[in-house]
Amino acid sequence: MKKPIIIVVTWWVLSGIGKGITASSVGALLRACGYNVFMQKMDGYLNVDAGTINPYKHGECFVTDDGTETDLDIGHYERFIDTNLNAQSIYTMGKLYHELISAEREGSFLGHDVQMIPHMSSLIKSKIIDAGVSAGADFHIVEIGGTVGDIENEILIESVRQLKAELPLGQVLFFHLTYIPYLLASKELKTKPTQNSVKDLRKMGINPDILFLRADYDISDEIRQKVSMMCGIHDQYVIPLPTLPSIYAIPNHLASYNLTQMIHTLTNLSVREPMMQKWTTLCNHISSATITKHIAMVGKYGTLEDAYYSLNEWLKVAWFHCGYNVMLHFLDPWEISHSNVTTLMHDMNGICVPWGFGKRGIEGMIIACQYARENNIPYLGVCLGSQVMAIEFARNVLGLEDATSAEFDEEWLSNNHVIHLMENQKHQTKKWGTMRLGSYPCHLREGKKVTDLYRRFGWLSSWATIVHERHRHRYEFNNQYRDMFEQAWFVFSWTSPDGTLIEMMELPDHPFMLATQAHPEFLSRPLNPHPLFRWFIEAITIMTKNISPS
Ligand code: GLN
Repeated sequence: MKKPIIIVVTWWVLSGIGKGITASSVGALLRACGYNVFMQKMDGYLNVDAGTINPYKHGECFVTDDGTETDLDIGHYERFIDTNLNAQSIYTMGKLYHELISAEREGSFLGHDVQMIPHMSSLIKSKIIDAGVSAGADFHIVEIGGTVGDIENEILIESVRQLKAELPLGQVLFFHLTYIPYLLASKELKTKPTQNSVKDLRKMGINPDILFLRADYDISDEIRQKVSMMCGIHDQYVIPLPTLPSIYAIPNHLASYNLTQMIHTLTNLSVREPMMQKWTTLCNHISSATITKHIAMVGKYGTLEDAYYSLNEWLKVAWFHCGYNVMLHFLDPWEISHSNVTTLMHDMNGICVPWGFGKRGIEGMIIACQYARENNIPYLGVCLGSQVMAIEFARNVLGLEDATSAEFDEEWLSNNHVIHLMENQKHQTKKWGTMRLGSYPCHLREGKKVTDLYRRFGWLSSWATIVHERHRHRYEFNNQYRDMFEQAWFVFSWTSPDGTLIEMMELPDHPFMLATQAHPEFLSRPLNPHPLFRWFIEAITIMTKNISPS
């Protein structure tokens, strides 16, 4: 079996400087050279997965096709390398300890001490090697979470050090990302933290092959040469990463520093040029977008933008593909009432109710949804947003005043749970046991607008009837109410193949009132945005500018 070249990405100084995006951009460049790329994150957290981590602390939970709950870096990877990843793409130390200790309990190490080296380090190395090999990758990028020097990451760094020594020359490369702070008082960029970080890495037995210098300002050749001299890395292999107008400009920026040539040289491969046209076109769209549209984001996590990272990003990217700019306005739903909704929504061109769990803020979301329906404002509901759309319709059109979801009615006060748990889910007791997670088939109904749309954007061939969308939710539309809704012209455009689960709903007499039980943001890619987002934007454009869709 083919063994991929492994690129390990480490970082230092502080979080939030874009290591995930940088690693992903390296992946995008290698993809643009025509290679198969696999990406993986090894994280120091003791959580077994990201599913139970609060979005307030850790940003969005990103779900892969196989239903693995990961963090937003895996989303960056998938989007930049345009490849579906899987459970092997993320290992937390919690998951690894769990596996090792379970093996010990089952007697796998009888008679031996179980130690960090060699037992944990061997487990880590095997997880890295197996993932890249089973993905059939040419290049396998491994991001080490946290910063060099964190206690919980030491064994990860030690394991990749061993990997380099064990595999053939040129099979493992080390890329290191540091931050160059700017001192306002002396008006200079400081390189000392970078020098120290390389020293720290060397103490751990790792020599970086390529150094990325992240800064908020342009980095002069002088700084680059100073870092090169102090760290003993050729200046061509020291790549400045100033803040660029958009994260989608990073692949082209790296290409301009001949990164792929360096990788080919370090690995003794013959040079392939990256084909960057699509990235260049996207960047041109971004820089030429002048007209701005406004979307109200009415979500459970209020103004915490990172909780909806994929959704935000993909709404924006879809706009860029259409040549517009979008400004997302994050509103706290618990602040929305019948008396202020008109003022709050007056300047909004569209309303989106994103995903969420629990009942906090639900009434505000329902009011926003009602406003969208009654005032012909384009509305996009994503997962919870679809449940909100059904509840709003039940209350205000069908007259079921107490309509709600079983999720929000802990005391069982309502007679109308239009959203509920399926019979077969009710007996599950484990927190995540009832979740519908990962990719599920959705069966289209011919003649529906949304079906035509998937075909128009090439997401569904003319003869196909099934698409796959990713899910992460527990509650479903209650089929007892289906006839009642349909008699009032509410359309269930897509269902599960056996017809029992509602996947998508729309209102035919509204310019765009559409919601999906799935998470289209998990499948949208910068070079190929999801059709629902494009359509939402087209609807807003038609409503506000009276122009035809492209
Ligand atoms: N809380 C809802 C459910 O569990 C919606 C979840 C979501 O928006 N992902 O079904």
